[in-house]
Amino acid sequence: MTNKNCIFCKIASGEIKTDFIMETEDYVSFNDVNPQAPWHALIIPREHFSSLNDLNNIELMGKLLEGAQKTAEKLGIKENYRTVINTGREAGQTVFHVHLHVLGGRPLNWPPG
Ligand code: 5GP
Ligand code: ZN
Repeated sequence: MTNKNCIFCKIASGEIKTDFIMETEDYVSFNDVNPQAPWHALIIPREHFSSLNDLNNIELMGKLLEGAQKTAEKLGIKENYRTVINTGREAGQTVFHVHLHVLGGRPLNWPPG
């Protein structure tokens, strides 16, 4: 299922043209438009789920993590990277189509803000 008002559905379907880092039948990854680190990619399922709480497909969850792994490898940051999923506005979620962030290329502080 896709959501016609969702920007990430439009990216995944190709309606908004985007260079993909990775593309499978289940997910795509691409560079974040507003990078917070030298490397900042997003992994999104092709199917629309508003947040991690709505993602009810355990097999797909695993594939998205695999997407994070492989995207980090493709970016050349697989030794050091952070994977983030923001759930809910107060946690920083701004796009309500579930996505994993992959950040790297600089030392990353802990805890995050
Ligand atoms: P969130 O804040 O929901 O965890 O992450 C949403 C991310 O999507 C943000 O880092 C934001 O910069 C990115 N983003 C929002 N709109 C677009 C877009 O149209 N294209 C790309 N490549 N990234 C986007
Ligand atoms: Zn969507």
